Amino acid sequence: MISTRGSAPKAGFGDVLLAGLAPDGGLYLPQFWPQVSVREIASFKGRAYNDVAHDILMRFAAGSFSAAEIKADIDAAYGAFDDAQIAPLVELEPDLFLMELFHGPTLAFKDIAMQVLGRMFARALAKRGGHATVVVATSGDTGSAAIAALGGLANIDVFVIHPKDRVSEVQRRQMTTAPYDNVHNIALCGTFDDAQAIVKELFADVAFARAVRLTAVNSINFARIAAQCVYYFTATATLGQAATFVVPTGNFGDIFAGEAAMHMGLGIEKLVVATNANDILARTLNEGVYASARVQPSLSPSMDIQVASNFERALFEASGRDSAWLQDAMLTFARDRKLTLPETVLAGLRSCYSAWRSDDRETIQTIGEVYKSTGQLIDPHTAVALRAAYQMKGQRQGPVVVLSTAHPAKFPDAVQQATGKRPALPPRLAGLYEGVERLTVLDNDKALVRAHIEAKLNTP
Ligand SMILES: *Cc1c(COP(=O)(O)O)cnc(C)c1O
Repeated sequence: MISTRGSAPKAGFGDVLLAGLAPDGGLYLPQFWPQVSVREIASFKGRAYNDVAHDILMRFAAGSFSAAEIKADIDAAYGAFDDAQIAPLVELEPDLFLMELFHGPTLAFKDIAMQVLGRMFARALAKRGGHATVVVATSGDTGSAAIAALGGLANIDVFVIHPKDRVSEVQRRQMTTAPYDNVHNIALCGTFDDAQAIVKELFADVAFARAVRLTAVNSINFARIAAQCVYYFTATATLGQAATFVVPTGNFGDIFAGEAAMHMGLGIEKLVVATNANDILARTLNEGVYASARVQPSLSPSMDIQVASNFERALFEASGRDSAWLQDAMLTFARDRKLTLPETVLAGLRSCYSAWRSDDRETIQTIGEVYKSTGQLIDPHTAVALRAAYQMKGQRQGPVVVLSTAHPAKFPDAVQQATGKRPALPPRLAGLYEGVERLTVLDNDKALVRAHIEAKLNTP
């Protein structure tokens, strides 16, 4: 695999899995996208999700893991899901579907990739030997998914940094009541972007990163993308034709997995970026200027992000993989918080993506509307995407699939406000309100976070 910034040495899938970010500050991508033929895609129809996941993942992982190892990890990962289809399609009206991605242990789509990644990670670490320190910046759902996947594992410490008071109570308790000695929760006095910036600074602190064998399981880790592109294939095979996918977007990982599937040969009509009031991506695609603003808290906190790490991967592809331009562009953006995209790059992005935004009022309205017309309860993130799908009505072709990224019970207040109905906490979250919370509040300061990690590490 290669780095978007062009100066890191090539690395295998297993090394990328353990490293997360590339040493030149870029993100890893396959040097060549593996290809899946139209016939192979058609053959996915009716096959078990685990089978398709195995087929796709092996195309990335074959040099690092055996087919039996990947099969064991996939079967263990999805064995605990409460829907055997893993990513079932639910028809809301003709040609409009929800793809439910929240049937894993923490009720958000992050589980689909993280449950597999955690197992592959433990396997790769056992082969390499030694200890690893995982640092996760989370806007709410990645943290609990990482804890569910890595909690209790030997030789791994997990530090989860969430923005203090900017995640829902269910999200916070899912993280802080986890009973594992190797899990350390940090509530950062700042925003998600601050947390993500600190993680990047910790990686840039090369001596420290080396000493603690720092790694990332955020969607900068390519293994996440590899596991997430599977459901674009299964949905398309099930529908039997190219679809429009509408994706509630924050860090651009989930939707970039759709672009990855396209590079692998999957026909996709359009990938639609749906954002809340934090609409940097919608503005970029519509106006051609990537400019960050202040993060505004919203009812869909997992999307309260301005600087979307994975957008770098999309820019790299849209520039024709021009790493010299990208390196420059990323430095410009870091300095000015603003980047004007060249026409060719913008045209490349627009050939694949379009974008819509909605605010909290529209989110509540959409949750209420769909409940009234279909009886379906949806969470606020799904609502942002469904709103975009409704807005596109008339200009859309073929089936539209809205990615439903969280269970409504994760955001009970918003759902109740919109529908008058409070979604019941599923059995797997019973006891959430009784557990003891463990977390450390830290100021928004990289040095403090670094010192905290050094003090808490179970293995120095
Ligand atoms: C993480 C998350 C998103 C955003 O996904 P990205 O890959 O960061 O774009 C959307 N909805 C929910 C519920 C999430 O947890």
